[in-house]
Amino acid sequence: MLTIFSFSPKQTYCDNCEKTQKTYVKKELRMFNFDGNGMIKASSILIKTKLRFCLVCGHMVYDDKLDNKMSKKLKRQITKRKLLKEEYRGHLF
Ligand SMILES: [Zn+2]
Repeated sequence: MLTIFSFSPKQTYCDNCEKTQKTYVKKELRMFNFDGNGMIKASSILIKTKLRFCLVCGHMVYDDKLDNKMSKKLKRQITKRKLLKEEYRGHLF
């Protein structure tokens, strides 16, 4: 079963409300773009991620656990792409 919205009893500080509020978690597809800087050139990575929002104003709030998960997913995808690219390069030269 896929839950898109999940209400969480977690209270998080909301920058927009300038106080601690009840929050909810929403699943989203996020696009990350990389252009050089040792990363993949002109490539984009689509990642399914969970984000936390303020229940009162709808502003996105920072959640370290969700953020960590997203970073790990992203790193995994980058490593995968890099390996593929290297493999491809190996065939060319
Ligand atoms: Zn708020």
